[in-house]
Amino acid sequence: MLNLVFFGPPGAGKGTQSAQIINRYGLVHLSTGDIFRYNIGNKTELGKLAKSYIDKGQLVPDEVTINMLKSEVNKIENPKGFIFDGFPRTTFQAEVLDSFLEEKGTKVAGMISLEVPEAELKERLRKRAIDSGRADDANPEIIANRISVYNNETAPVKVFYDKQEKLHAIKGVGSIDEITNDIIKTIESLKD
Ligand code: ADP
Repeated sequence: MLNLVFFGPPGAGKGTQSAQIINRYGLVHLSTGDIFRYNIGNKTELGKLAKSYIDKGQLVPDEVTINMLKSEVNKIENPKGFIFDGFPRTTFQAEVLDSFLEEKGTKVAGMISLEVPEAELKERLRKRAIDSGRADDANPEIIANRISVYNNETAPVKVFYDKQEKLHAIKGVGSIDEITNDIIKTIESLKD
């Protein structure tokens, strides 16, 4: 299996790049943000709970997120691999993912970290809010909160993978295809 973690702050392009990569490698794209939004749209219990955090720009509690992620992974029969997008977002989630994959006889091959300057991120989120209708993109205070949660809780996840020599930083500014090509080069180097 080829399991990749796509990492980066809100607006870095994780979703866009995941979509470019999944078909090429036959991977399953698991975006915790997309799964939460699907549940919010369908007004499930999970959705109601997640909404109360997401609307404030906070993380959904680890236990809830981890249970959801595990059940999504377990739904797939004979997967070729996964792109984890938006997960892990805390060091605890990263530790749990390692042991969960180990139980399945597999591991994270690498973390693709998309690097984008903060001013550019704010501009992208402002534009995305216009088309996406996402409440958490529309309000500058919520965006600021998400960026600070990212810096405090999520950035340490990078250190976690760096210690395992699995961190691959990719410049997330440029054309979509240029960035995809850089990611493909990195993935090819992981397969050796
Ligand atoms: P972003 O564009 O901010 O990267 P996502 O679509 O990945 O957004 O996630 C939207 C929101 O869903 C996050 O701000 C957070 O509240 C919640 N969320 C997504 N993934 C996780 C996770 N792994 N752990 C906790 N909360 C999460």
